[in-house]
Amino acid sequence: MVDNNLLTPDFKNQPYWWDRAPPVPVASGGVSGSVDVAIVGSGLTALSAALTLLRAGRKVVIFDSEDPGFGASRRNAGYLGRTLKKSFPELMQAHGRESALAVYRELDAALQTTRALISDEGIDCYIARCGRFIGATSAAHYDRMAKELEITRQHIGFDFHMVPKSEQRGEIASDRYEGGAVIPDLGSLHPGLYHRGLLERVLAAGGIVCGRTEVRSVEPDGRLFRLRTSAAPVMAREVIVATNGYTPRKFRWHARRVIPFTAYMAATEVLGEEQLRRLIPHGRTVLDSNMNIDYIRPAPDTTRLLFGGATGSRLDSVEAMASRLGAIISRILPELAGVRLSHLWTGLCAATFDMMPHMGCHDGIWYGMGYNFAGVPMGTYFGRKIAQQILGLPEGRTVFDGTHFPTVPLYGGNPWFVPYAMRYFDWRDRRDASARRSASG
Ligand SMILES: Cc1cc2nc3c(=O)[nH]c(=O)nc-3n(C[C@H](O)[C@H](O)[C@H](O)COP(=O)(O)OP(=O)(O)OC[C@H]3O[C@@H](n4cnc5c(N)ncnc54)[C@H](O)[C@@H]3O)c2cc1C
Repeated sequence: MVDNNLLTPDFKNQPYWWDRAPPVPVASGGVSGSVDVAIVGSGLTALSAALTLLRAGRKVVIFDSEDPGFGASRRNAGYLGRTLKKSFPELMQAHGRESALAVYRELDAALQTTRALISDEGIDCYIARCGRFIGATSAAHYDRMAKELEITRQHIGFDFHMVPKSEQRGEIASDRYEGGAVIPDLGSLHPGLYHRGLLERVLAAGGIVCGRTEVRSVEPDGRLFRLRTSAAPVMAREVIVATNGYTPRKFRWHARRVIPFTAYMAATEVLGEEQLRRLIPHGRTVLDSNMNIDYIRPAPDTTRLLFGGATGSRLDSVEAMASRLGAIISRILPELAGVRLSHLWTGLCAATFDMMPHMGCHDGIWYGMGYNFAGVPMGTYFGRKIAQQILGLPEGRTVFDGTHFPTVPLYGGNPWFVPYAMRYFDWRDRRDASARRSASG
């Protein structure tokens, strides 16, 4: 039984974003004859690719085994950044300056592409340039962050400023962090409205969208591909697999390369406007410097806070989620200890063995996946790049083209090790914190 004090009377076990943009069945008719491009999945990667292809006059069909928008694209936190698990200095050390610059320039291009798409298409999704506060969970992380961001600024010019612990309450009403960094040009949006807006543009451009239609196999058949689906089979000249964290194991080559893990999020009950301003004065998105991050942001359209954490854990019930996420918010914002939750939800992300996102073409089948928690801009960007490559356009080229997409022996897509990996990351973060305390103490 769930403790009623943890949840509001109108509590929903579904994404907050679905209040405004619930996934609904789409009836855009069946497929007659063959198509130019068939896309598996209906998230941002799929829609961005589809829109580019449709605008170039191609016939496109999108399949989703659930209602369109069921996946992470309408479940995420709506952070708009240029996020990569590997920092610029790490990449530079491993692969050289030019290569690191090329990757980070494209992360920025993904952010700008997403902003431009939303603006050009007139999608009303609360897109904002609110800035991001990254709280350091230890003094060691604060020092490392300051150093890494400064090196990044010197080489590529991304702006930031450090916020010492003494000034932290100007960013968030919390003593949880040992100071942090503000990246002023990063942003946020309402992922439900963004995805819905893009889906509407795809349908308006003549895209065929088949919800509740699972793709069961993709096989070459002469010069085309035959897709066996839970409805009628379809022939397509090109196929894109855009299933990210929802990649089924029957797509063996892809499933062996992505590590799906569950992310958990919650919305608080409605808070007072004045209280919200005190809690996060500049209305920025907030996350921390750990490998396994906690994150919190104001909702764009109500006075609630939306937050997440415990990624990769196994929380099997609403009760377990409420109690774990309740503990997270009271750790970050003690003033909210005991706050009731109006929504709790989960979603699947996809990590990769090299912690890099990947796109390309394997055995004639295109793919874009492995966004490691940054798929809002990267999915949008890869979708467009894949489409441009299919169209034979030189602007489709990217630094991510054809990079080795690693797997490990015996891995077939069952991510049994994720909770253990997360515990290892938690241990490392705690070790960093205590090492610095004893060094400085
Ligand atoms: C809780 C959470 C918070 C996140 N926060 C952020 C954030 O703040 N910022 C950010 O940039 N990223 C964030 N992410 C990651 C981001 O949401 C994803 O990387 C991105 O949405 C992936 O988009 P996609 O189009 O590739 O896949 P998805 O949107 O996940 O869509 C994949 C679809 O494929 C379908 N599918 C699977 N198999 C088949 C099949 N056989 N046939 C037909 N359809 C199939 C599924 O039903 C699903 O709808 C977050 C993710 C989660 C879960």
